Amino acid sequence: MRSRIWATLGVAALSLGATLDADAQGEVNLYSSRQEALIRPLLDMFTQQTGIEVNLVSGNDDAIIERLRIEGANSPADVLLTADAGRLHRAKSLDLLQPVRSATIDAAVPPAYRDPAGMWTGLSLRARVLMYAPERVAATDLSTYEALAEPKWRGRLCIRSSDNIYNQSLTAALIAHHGVEHVEHWAQGLVANFARPPAGGDRDQIQGVAAGQCDIALANTYYLGGMLRSDDPAQREAAGKIAVFWPNQQAQGTHVNVSGAGVTKAARNVDNARRLLEFMVSDEAQRWYAESNSEYPVKAGVPWSDVLQSWGTFKADALNLATLGENNAEALRLMDRAGWK
Ligand code: FE
Repeated sequence: MRSRIWATLGVAALSLGATLDADAQGEVNLYSSRQEALIRPLLDMFTQQTGIEVNLVSGNDDAIIERLRIEGANSPADVLLTADAGRLHRAKSLDLLQPVRSATIDAAVPPAYRDPAGMWTGLSLRARVLMYAPERVAATDLSTYEALAEPKWRGRLCIRSSDNIYNQSLTAALIAHHGVEHVEHWAQGLVANFARPPAGGDRDQIQGVAAGQCDIALANTYYLGGMLRSDDPAQREAAGKIAVFWPNQQAQGTHVNVSGAGVTKAARNVDNARRLLEFMVSDEAQRWYAESNSEYPVKAGVPWSDVLQSWGTFKADALNLATLGENNAEALRLMDRAGWK
């Protein structure tokens, strides 16, 4: 009888201990604008390693920041994950983020790819490059973003609208290098060279080159990577007609940007949020996260996918990406004045 009581108590004590343990590890709430397929397997890996559950809310880039803003201090979100330093900076400017101090993140992510105040860190890198039709354009005729404004490219460029953050961030970077006046003049020349009024996303610009509607597109590398790896033979065929040119290699370097994340100001699970960011910059996560979207790891020494290796190495603009956010409003006004629809 006595031994039976102890046995029962033992079982009770064990299961109570297990429950408390799980509670101590807790959870973290993530607002993400990345496709769920690009992120869910990584979050599962994080949970396996740490016991911390991740509750994922997915949404459109700008909508998810707006939701955070409206929820304010009552937001359940602990971490914001989104693309483009310009957008991360907007979240910072709206006072939606808090600084994270982490030796792990500092060691993994080059300073240019994180906010100087620690409000966000880049997690994957993309380059905005020239994609051209080699049968109509000689690589030796290509050099820089700046040179795309020359009259020889009249009617030959496919570039998306100025309401997209990628072109805003490129323009913001050029402002940092050359000043507003110079870049406004450039934007006027660029607009004069458009083959058609801006419409669609980066992928549509690449398809414009493949279809012969224009000769050069400005696009982020992962779009071409996605087309090359597509299940759709038409996409693969279009991508096969495109060559990549790394602009500004003899100058400031090719314009790069990041997807990244920060801990929200409203976060209640701050430690778990920091641990999630630290996990995302581990070698294993860096490799998987970059490869799943044909992006570059932000961390040096992490192997690149075969597609990225096929495009070769390049010199990236060393500008701190926080500058893209700081110059965003100026860039937008300038593009508007230049008639960039
Ligand atoms: Fe994109």
